[in-house]
Amino acid sequence: MFARLFFFLLWYVRTKWLRRFRTRDELVRWQERRVKSFLRFVIARSPFYRRRFEGRALSEWRTLPTIDKAIMMEHFTELNTRGIDREQAFELAQAAERTRDFQSAIGDVTVGLSSGTSGNRGLFLVTPREQSAWAGTLLAKVLPDPLHVPQRIALFLRANSNLYESVRSRRMRFAFFDLLEPVEALVEKLNAFQPTILASPPSMLRFLAEAKEAGKLRVAPKKILSVAEVLDPLDEAKIAAAFGQKVHQIYQCTEGFLAVTCAEGTLHVNEDLVVIEKEPIGPTSHRRFVPIVTDFTRTTQPIIRYRLNDVLTERADPCPCGSPFLALERIEGRCDDVLYLPSEREGARLLPVFADFVTRAIVASTPAIEEYVVRQHGPRDLEVALRVRGTRHEIEEQVRGALFALFARVGCEQPSLRFSDALEGPGVKKLRRVQRSFKLASTP
Ligand SMILES: [Zn+2]
Repeated sequence: MFARLFFFLLWYVRTKWLRRFRTRDELVRWQERRVKSFLRFVIARSPFYRRRFEGRALSEWRTLPTIDKAIMMEHFTELNTRGIDREQAFELAQAAERTRDFQSAIGDVTVGLSSGTSGNRGLFLVTPREQSAWAGTLLAKVLPDPLHVPQRIALFLRANSNLYESVRSRRMRFAFFDLLEPVEALVEKLNAFQPTILASPPSMLRFLAEAKEAGKLRVAPKKILSVAEVLDPLDEAKIAAAFGQKVHQIYQCTEGFLAVTCAEGTLHVNEDLVVIEKEPIGPTSHRRFVPIVTDFTRTTQPIIRYRLNDVLTERADPCPCGSPFLALERIEGRCDDVLYLPSEREGARLLPVFADFVTRAIVASTPAIEEYVVRQHGPRDLEVALRVRGTRHEIEEQVRGALFALFARVGCEQPSLRFSDALEGPGVKKLRRVQRSFKLASTP
């Protein structure tokens, strides 16, 4: 317990006050030193990375081939630095989910399963020390007040894990809310808990915003954090209006605590924890990239040059807050959420249409849209599910006009477009507003 508190405070203090960088250069030099000492530790303990580094100097780490979820899971046993067997870890994590008793551990290492489609779920390992470091860093970055001010933090999660129970004191109370419970029950529990901080996927925040506007939800949190899903501009506006404040974002996944919004509301990459290399996607003027993550703080399950399946957009100009950390304009979602339509001039060629363009076109077409999901079933087959206020037919025509104008601008053939009302509820699956369900032969 003492060790946990020590590491929690150590990382809190480090993050809040010690790791301040005056310039980008200073930050990059510091990162390079951290990465090298991290690599020395990992190479000594992970057979997988030791093999990868054969014939390479530490300074050449950026030339290592990238890994992804499939590679990580395939080599799990050799990749982790504790020699934990994949099958054993998998059985343990699954049993924990079935019984919803999340105290599963091998020795002192907690085992968890990331969300994902069945058969495509990732295992993750964390030690108490890593949990404390994570909690300290997170709170240093998101708490609106100093540590001694009491907080009640409501966390909405898909599955519990003792990762989130690593901080508990008289001043700091965490309550876990299960996204699979009915919204009415959750609203009642929130009314009783009266959170000062509300952290939830935006799809649930959106339902809570509606409950707040209907007078059913009676809470006044100081800070609202959108987690686990992409924050859509439509949701952002509705949540901000209902709670009368800015919606902050945490960009975190199994692969690390990647970015968080500053006081200005800009997402900054946590470059005091991770190095993100940018793999450009689309024209460079769009500033879009797929992140390749190296997390130099987590040693049990090392993440070195992990290619995330996400598309991010870099901010065009520096954030007024003055942070040297990479500023993002937005997280666009997964690579799988980029639509691909046939080129108007060369029909065989597919052109990318980024989720963000699609979202903005739809949201801007009419203020009457309450909910929407775009699904691309085939290169020429598009479905738009809508919930609207007003005359449905008129609204559909406005959306059609906006999308066709967008596709014309990008130079795509117009697909066949149909409308439906097949929307999904919150909680069950990750909300993806723009989805492509057909596979590309190869990524263009
Ligand atoms: Zn900023």
